[in-house]
Amino acid sequence: MATRKKYFVGNWKMNKRKSELSDFFSQFGKNLKSAVACDVGFAVPSVFLENLAPTFREKRFFLGAQNFHWESSGAFTGELSIDMLLDAGATGALVGHSERRQYFGETDATVCKKVTAAAHKKFPVILCIGETLDERKSNKTNEVVKRQVLEALSQVQNLDFVTLAYEPVWAIGTGLSATSAQAQEVHKMIRGLLVEKFGAAMAEKTRILYGGSMNEKNFAELVAQPDIDGGLIGGASLKPDLFATICN
Ligand code: PEP
Repeated sequence: MATRKKYFVGNWKMNKRKSELSDFFSQFGKNLKSAVACDVGFAVPSVFLENLAPTFREKRFFLGAQNFHWESSGAFTGELSIDMLLDAGATGALVGHSERRQYFGETDATVCKKVTAAAHKKFPVILCIGETLDERKSNKTNEVVKRQVLEALSQVQNLDFVTLAYEPVWAIGTGLSATSAQAQEVHKMIRGLLVEKFGAAMAEKTRILYGGSMNEKNFAELVAQPDIDGGLIGGASLKPDLFATICN
């Protein structure tokens, strides 16, 4: 069985100002062990990418944007292309976060276009999927997550540039994390889908993160589950000491 290195990525959403970055990363650096055993990253507002790129490159942190357009250029006011993000120093991006689906009309079809465009450019993505509370209550979790995963990955040949993040929508920002058993059940189902579509070797090496109110108290039990390979963390990644504790 492949051993997957744990991976923790902070999702800053629309938070922080440029003036806070230096203090944040000096605190984070002080709290983070030098020989940390996991991969570390942040998905930040795109206006911070250029500023953070040199330090992140040196530290080998993933520097993610939170969204991008699937076309390379054109009349798409307000959007950013993968090439623009690369120019700014990004080493990847989130795609299909539930807040983008909920507030900005992102659908399985647009998520698929983005994942496909990213695969062509060899641009790493963290593909977010997860059910709403209503969907969970009506026993549709597996059906919804399966549809989201298969649709998003329908045009890619492999998962070399894909990490997945299972994020139940009802757990994001609510303080109500999924239990480790609930999360493991869905992660296992997702890995099964990856085995069917891409084969066991590829599925075994692909990381599936959990996201949804993960914090310094609950992360250890979650990531001890066999199919949970780390976390995509919102609130707790805004505090340098807490996020460093989790990574350590
Ligand atoms: C997220 O934004 O992806 C997330 C998981 O947020 P939080 O950790 O705050 O629930």
